[in-house]
Amino acid sequence: NSTIVTVDGPSGAGKGTLSQLLAQRLGYRLLDSGALYRLVALASINKAISVENASALRDCASTLDVEFAPADDGVTVILEGQDVTAAIRQEHVSMRASEVAAVDAVRTALLQRQRDFAVAPGLVADGRDMGTTVFPAAQHKFYLTASAEARAQRRYQQLLGRGESVDLAALVADIQARDQRDQSRATSPLRPAQDAHIVDSTEMSIAQVLEHMIDIIGV
Ligand code: C5P
Repeated sequence: NSTIVTVDGPSGAGKGTLSQLLAQRLGYRLLDSGALYRLVALASINKAISVENASALRDCASTLDVEFAPADDGVTVILEGQDVTAAIRQEHVSMRASEVAAVDAVRTALLQRQRDFAVAPGLVADGRDMGTTVFPAAQHKFYLTASAEARAQRRYQQLLGRGESVDLAALVADIQARDQRDQSRATSPLRPAQDAHIVDSTEMSIAQVLEHMIDIIGV
């Protein structure tokens, strides 16, 4: 019924772009699970819910009114009727996302919502725990990584392209802080699934990584 491809790894490893390209190439649906955590983060900021308030965060996650609408340049993310596509990518929302993602009750609240994305003919699931927790029986699992410097550099180019002024050293520090939190949380810490193909993209182009992944999937 549904073939699942999971793409996990730290921020900035190229998961987003590659998952999108893979989904297109395979004709599969895409799950951007990070967007769900970002949405909980944004909603919690809007509602002035503190990161310490686990039960309010859980309620926030389980009642999240969100829609992913296909657009020319990817996906438009709508939260309670508002286009928040750009808002959820802001640096302070990224930071808050990794904080709310460390709250157990939030992860549990989002579990079924993520599984519901699986439809025929298939799904490409992008995240941190897709292959380990959300879709442990996935047919094809990838763990995409790159050096912290390479990841910060990519993020830097992305932000520059959007006309945002940023400090590269601050981005490296941000990325390391997020990695640290993602790897050390109690529930579903960031780590490769035992049966994941580990791909280090530090010295590879997006096109090279895509071909490598397609080869492994064997289509
Ligand atoms: O991938 P993205 O940077 O959009 O994810 C935002 C944050 O959400 C990550 O820093 C991570 O803490 C969290 N996340 C997670 N599990 C996922 C996807 C994202 O904990 N499956």
